[in-house]
Order: sequence, then structure tokens, then C-alpha cells
Amino acid sequence: MASSPQALDALVIGAGPAGIGTALALAAVDDLHFGVLDRGQIGQTFLDWPEQQTFLTPSFTGNGFGATDLNSVHPETSPAFSIGVDYLNGAQYAKYLRSVAGHFQLPIMEEVEVAGVAVRSDGFEVFSNRGSVRARSLVWAGGEFGQPLVPRISGSTLTDHTSGAAAWAIRSGDVVVIGGYESGIDIACLHVENGAHVTVVDENTPWDAGSGSDPSFRLAPRSRVRLQRALATGRLSLVSARAVSVHAVGDGFATKLSDGENIRSDSKPIAATGFGSGLGPVQQLFTARPDGWPELDEDDQSTITPGLFLSGPSIRHGGLKFCFIYKFRQRFAHIARVIGERSGKDTSALEAWREAGMLTDDLSCCGAECAC
Ligand SMILES: Cc1cc2nc3c(=O)[nH]c(=O)nc-3n(C[C@H](O)[C@H](O)[C@H](O)COP(=O)(O)OP(=O)(O)OC[C@H]3O[C@@H](n4cnc5c(N)ncnc54)[C@H](O)[C@@H]3O)c2cc1C
Repeated sequence: MASSPQALDALVIGAGPAGIGTALALAAVDDLHFGVLDRGQIGQTFLDWPEQQTFLTPSFTGNGFGATDLNSVHPETSPAFSIGVDYLNGAQYAKYLRSVAGHFQLPIMEEVEVAGVAVRSDGFEVFSNRGSVRARSLVWAGGEFGQPLVPRISGSTLTDHTSGAAAWAIRSGDVVVIGGYESGIDIACLHVENGAHVTVVDENTPWDAGSGSDPSFRLAPRSRVRLQRALATGRLSLVSARAVSVHAVGDGFATKLSDGENIRSDSKPIAATGFGSGLGPVQQLFTARPDGWPELDEDDQSTITPGLFLSGPSIRHGGLKFCFIYKFRQRFAHIARVIGERSGKDTSALEAWREAGMLTDDLSCCGAECAC
């Protein structure tokens, strides 16, 4: 990829669901010149998922009745239909993404790692291991998986983060999981199902049902069912406390809690402590909100770098989290329309995304609570 003499209208970095979905919306804009780069393969994060990891959100082909499959990135596609599975694993979802990208003939270059981005008078210059490319608008869709957050405690190097295969390998004896939200309960249930005794520690007790109905703030139904089954074995303990340190003790490990208690485990404690925003080479082109997530304007654009958009699970607007595909996909067509209009292109085809329930441009409509 030599330096291109003519700038693209838009360049998308990352070919996961956010990047592929945004590219599909850009493809619906008439005569827009755009491209997608990924440092690995299409759906690389999903190819890297531990084998046992499956989606939390089920897939079901409701598309024809206005209920587009929760994990679709285009209104006319459905992972449940193309793969035939409701709770997909990573390899299956990567296959879906590749088939969608192929069907719609998206211009994607794989094995291109973006290492730097410079702001120019007419847009951006993007530097990669394969040369540089210029684009008037840039969409960062690099995901969060590349930035696992380890607990900020002494001995954190003695933990296995849930993003790695080691945390998922079958364990026997006593297991400790630090963090009790979705990934913590998921991996705790897995180890209980395989016979281990598991203690989950989290001072915020996120396993409690909570009062809101937003799945970003309460366990998914499947997780709650698994949790009840795991508790019924008598081999799962949920402890409301903060882990303050981890030490190697004899042939095992001790996790010290805020109340002074030590919990012993036969293997490294598992850190189910989530991910950061993973902004990589565009980090300095965003400012951060007080909670650390990137500050965005109403178009999901950096507040300090016009023309730089964020697509994916790190999108936050006020108290709204867009951390699931069915949430952040609402913004693909919005971002594409803003970019298309700035390039003077016809964006009317994007209205089909709204009809399919895949375009939210009025953020005040999100976050309603269910009555029952
Ligand atoms: C364990 C786990 C389970 C989850 N389960 C669900 C679920 O059940 N349902 C749901 O809706 N969401 C789920 N999520 C949320 C998750 O954030 C999304 O599913 C999804 O991975 C986010 O998509 P993305 O495209 O933003 O990021 P990714 O899928 O991570 O894609 C980012 C892409 O960018 C590429 N990239 C990164 N940096 C560069 C660079 N410098 N240069 C070039 N390319 C780069 C990567 O190679 C990658 O292919 C889960 C997340 C995790 C971590």
C-alpha cells in the first residue's frame, strides 16, 4: 500500500462487527470512496476468543418481522440463519462477518497494522506496516479486546485475565475469580460445571438482579439461569468484598480481601475485570470523560479532532453504554450519513437501516425501562 495520491472519503480501521458494520453503511452511500484495514483477519478478535467462549446475546432470525437478529451488522443478514447457531462462538461469528464482507464486496485489506495517525489540513494520514493512506474522515473501530484491564492491585501479574486461554483451561480444586459481572459469572459457572470450587469476589455484587432492565447493567437471563444452577451445586461462593492483593503461597495463591480475609486458590486467580477503550494509535486524538471513556459529540465524533469517529462498544453518551452489538450498530448508519453528507453524496439509502431498527440518531429515545 503505497501513499495514495487521492484521499479516500473515509477509512475504517478494524474489521470486527463495528468496522464491518460501519463499512456496510458507508457502502450504502452513493459513490463514496472508502476502505477498511485490519491488522489481522476479518473478525480477528473473535478468532482470538478462547474456544469455550460463546456470545451472551442470542441470535435468532426475526429480520422479516422488524426484529433484526441481535448480532447482525446488516439488516439483510442474520448469524442465526447463516451459521445455524443461536449462541455463537468466536470462530462462528468470524465466519459470519467474513461471509457478509464477501457478499457485499467490501474493500478490506487484512494484515495491515495501523501504527500512527497524523491530522492533515484535508483530513488524516494513516501510517501502517504496508505504507500510508490519506482519508478525509476516519472511523476508529479497533475494539476493546486489545486492552484487557487487569486489577490495579499488588500481585496483579499473578492473575489470568478472561481474555486469555489460560483462564478458560479446565481447573480443579479451589478457583478464585475477581470480578462478578458477565465475564466473571460466565467463567465461574464454567469451572463449577467442570467440578471446581469457585469463589467470586466483587464489592459491587453485580450478580444481584439490580433494578434497571438494561442488559449493560444486569446479568443476562442465560447467565442468571447458569448462576442459579452453579449455586445449587454448593461449589460456588459469591463474596461481597474487594480484592486488594494476590500472593503466591506454597503451591497455590492467596487473594487478600478488603476485610482482611485471605482466599486460597490452587491456580492463579482469574481477573474478570473487563477491557479499556483500546484506542491505540488514535488515543491522543480523543479527550476522556471523567469516567475514562472517550468524549464524543452527538455524531460519535471526537470532540477535539473533527472527522475522527468512534464505532463500537466504547461509545458512551451520558449514562448510556453502547457495549453490545445490537446497541452500537444503531450508530453505523448515522456515522455513514454524517460522512456521506460532508462529502456531498446521496445518503437516502440509509433510511432502510432505520426501517430495520438499525439506525438511532435521536439518543433521547434509548434507555427506556421495561414495566415488567
Ligand atoms: C469476551 C467478550 C464477550 C462479548 N460478548 C458479547 C455478546 O455476547 N454480545 C455482544 O453484543 N457483544 C459482546 N461483546 C462486546 C464486544 O465488544 C463486541 O462483541 C465486539 O467484539 C466489539 O466489536 P468491535 O468491532 O468494536 O471490536 P473487535 O471485534 O475487537 O474488532 C476490532 C478489530 O480491529 C483490529 N485492530 C485493532 N487495532 C488495530 C490497528 N492498530 N490496526 C489495524 N487493525 C486493528 C483488530 O484486529 C480487530 O479485528 C463481548 C466482548 C467480549 C470481550
